[in-house]
Amino acid sequence: MGVDADEVGAPGRWVGRAGRAAVDLLAAARLDRMDVEDADAYQGTRIPLPIVRPQGGGGSDRAWSPEAVHILAKPTGAICNLACSYCFFLDKEELYEGDRSRMSEQTLDAYIRQLIAMHRVPQVTVAWQGGEPTLMGLDFYRRAMELEERYREPGMSFLNTMQTNGTLLTDEWAAFFKEHHFLIGISIDGPRELHDAFRVNKSGRGSFDEVMRGLRLLQEHGVEYNILTTVNRINGDYPLEVYRFLRDEAGTSWMQFIPVVERVDERGAPADLRGAFASERSVRPEQFGRFLTTVFDEWVRHDVGEVFVQTFEAAARNWAGLGQSGMCVFNETCGLGLALEHNGDLYSCDHFVDPEYLLGNIGDSSIEDLISSRQQFGFGRDKRDSLPRYCLECDVRFACHGECPKNRFITTPDGEPGLNYLCAGFKDFFHHIGVPMRRMIELMRSGRPAAEEMDLLAAEDQAFQDEVRRAGRNDGCPCGSGLKVKRCHGRAPDEPEVRPMPTSLGTPRPPVVDRGRDTAEARPRAPRGLR
Ligand code: SF4
Ligand code: SF4
Repeated sequence: MGVDADEVGAPGRWVGRAGRAAVDLLAAARLDRMDVEDADAYQGTRIPLPIVRPQGGGGSDRAWSPEAVHILAKPTGAICNLACSYCFFLDKEELYEGDRSRMSEQTLDAYIRQLIAMHRVPQVTVAWQGGEPTLMGLDFYRRAMELEERYREPGMSFLNTMQTNGTLLTDEWAAFFKEHHFLIGISIDGPRELHDAFRVNKSGRGSFDEVMRGLRLLQEHGVEYNILTTVNRINGDYPLEVYRFLRDEAGTSWMQFIPVVERVDERGAPADLRGAFASERSVRPEQFGRFLTTVFDEWVRHDVGEVFVQTFEAAARNWAGLGQSGMCVFNETCGLGLALEHNGDLYSCDHFVDPEYLLGNIGDSSIEDLISSRQQFGFGRDKRDSLPRYCLECDVRFACHGECPKNRFITTPDGEPGLNYLCAGFKDFFHHIGVPMRRMIELMRSGRPAAEEMDLLAAEDQAFQDEVRRAGRNDGCPCGSGLKVKRCHGRAPDEPEVRPMPTSLGTPRPPVVDRGRDTAEARPRAPRGLR
């Protein structure tokens, strides 16, 4: 299923992790009454803060003892019916070459039983992903529901989630999801031209029509769903077109934007986790920052409290100081979002499905033992402990936390390795949203809805327009650009812009040799303002 495959998962990583916030903070307006328990409930997947035991204490080999965990199970491994050009997970097929890549009944049983056994909270999230998880067929998931019932403990409930490309959905699937209260993450990259740029089938044909058909089925059956949009080099230039399409045409009020960062080596060959360069399909850092700020400006003027954008919600939680943002990438530490391969191999994270990060197999050790290991504890703490000094001194670290370690492959201006490739974009975005974020948090602290920020901004926008009108055409523009009014905000309004959409479709993974030139052009550069 592609880049999205890694996203509907753990405690709110970028990718959809179809986990939805227990309460949408920005629609809640109750920060004033929040206590510690509330703060836990505000986490994206209701996963409480882990209890950390002293290392080596009591003769135990365990480094920590999480009460809950979020595991992305991949019952088809990396196998998918599409061939999205940017999908890093397709390369993972090589890890299990010659394997049927289907989860056995025995592994499914062990997984559900052990997942339940390790939870010490009443709700268990069971997350299905891929590859394309619907390739397993409905009977597999009917069996999973039976096993949940068989091993359920008193008072326990389940949240089943699935991230799918949507192309194989039928009425039968949708009715099943509705009956079992699944939360579905469906991957759509924007209107047809943008979606089909990379999300293609194995013969290179765009998948837009099939995905929209799947989405309409979910809507007709009243299934709960999120839309997950990967932001890449092409749709990254069309933030408003993407956002308005998702809101107005796809008809969703819950969306996630995930940056495509595809690591390659100096020849342009895929080099997941080890490449020092970004592919030509990857979103550029500044482009991603522009995408987020443009969508934010539209959202904060029209849709606060109505449309849920996961990145903005996570930012609000960090601005409010809740301790957990609901997205692992924006938390100080991580380690509670793991990946389970079809054969029972458990990895530290689905971005790190690599032999170096294999914890073990659930047929040999229990999920609880594997998660409580020093290896996994260290993995999660490294997110914080490996930050370069540049991040430690960054004024928006409280919101960014260096994002995901998988993207930390450029050097800081003074040459220290380990800076996030997207740093420049994050700096721009978090600086841009600071004032409205602070005001929304203040509104909620005083018991008023965050949505009042829309009125405040409308009044400010009006006051600014009045100022522009009062200024002479040759005066400096009140926006502070340094330009004359007539060349800046006093210009005659442009004709409504109709921007051409890309017309060529992506193709299934081009040969490695074709990727070198573009990749060299796409070499990461130092963050803007630091060169
Ligand atoms: S490495 Fe950590 S921050 Fe990155 S996706 Fe995995 S759990 Fe999240
Ligand atoms: S914005 Fe850049 S410097 Fe600041 S924490 Fe994020 S990655 Fe580090």
